[in-house]
Amino acid sequence: MPRLYVLPLGEACCDKGRVLTPGVGDGVRIHIPIAAYLLRTDAGRTVLIDTGIHRSHVDDPDRTWGGSELAQLLRPVMRVEDTIDHRLAQLGLRASDVTDVINTHLHFDHAGNNDAFPGATFHVQRAHVEAATDNPSFPNQYWRLPGLRYHLLDGETELGDDIWIWPTPGHAPGHQSVRVRLPQDGVFVICGDAIYDADNLAHDAWGGHADPAAARASGLDLVERARAWGATVLYGHDPAQARTLRRSPLFYS
Ligand SMILES: [Zn+2]
Repeated sequence: MPRLYVLPLGEACCDKGRVLTPGVGDGVRIHIPIAAYLLRTDAGRTVLIDTGIHRSHVDDPDRTWGGSELAQLLRPVMRVEDTIDHRLAQLGLRASDVTDVINTHLHFDHAGNNDAFPGATFHVQRAHVEAATDNPSFPNQYWRLPGLRYHLLDGETELGDDIWIWPTPGHAPGHQSVRVRLPQDGVFVICGDAIYDADNLAHDAWGGHADPAAARASGLDLVERARAWGATVLYGHDPAQARTLRRSPLFYS
């Protein structure tokens, strides 16, 4: 039976309003969760959805944004247990066991450990790679690496094993979200940052996204689809929701 694991990969201490929901929680510091998701399929594939923040942030939180304005707005808080290798090892896995990686997008908290998976195929929207290339908002040192194999997608894509991907632009051009279907626990939608947290929806607060109008359209459409599918929606960085989820090594099946 397929299994879906939520891998906790640390947190970021950030200004809730400035980063996630302008107008809601401005100036309030909170810790937001950073996660990846691991799907083990019946066919023997091991699919990672996002790869979290690079493991070097355990020792050097300023590694990515030191000296920039973002260093104050968004500070990684990461322990050794939060590294991707540690989370995989807890499941008896090594990075070389991962067959596929789906990056919802290439921000540093979603593609930070891409370098650990040279044997995997990475699935990313072509439009997103074009927008992220040479763009300092998507630090290229974590994902644009020789030896990583990118399979560029053009819109909706069925990846097999009941994994379905579709574009949810707005947070970033070519951002994508992922639907997986499990026999017991049902359908899950992994948003990436299409929806950061429940306040995006509850307060109609989309100003933290690159293109707020597009993000709003994608977010509302995602919710509509999820309702039709009876799906559980996993938000990108929602501390309250994270506390309610089964965390690896527990799993959904
Ligand atoms: Zn994010």
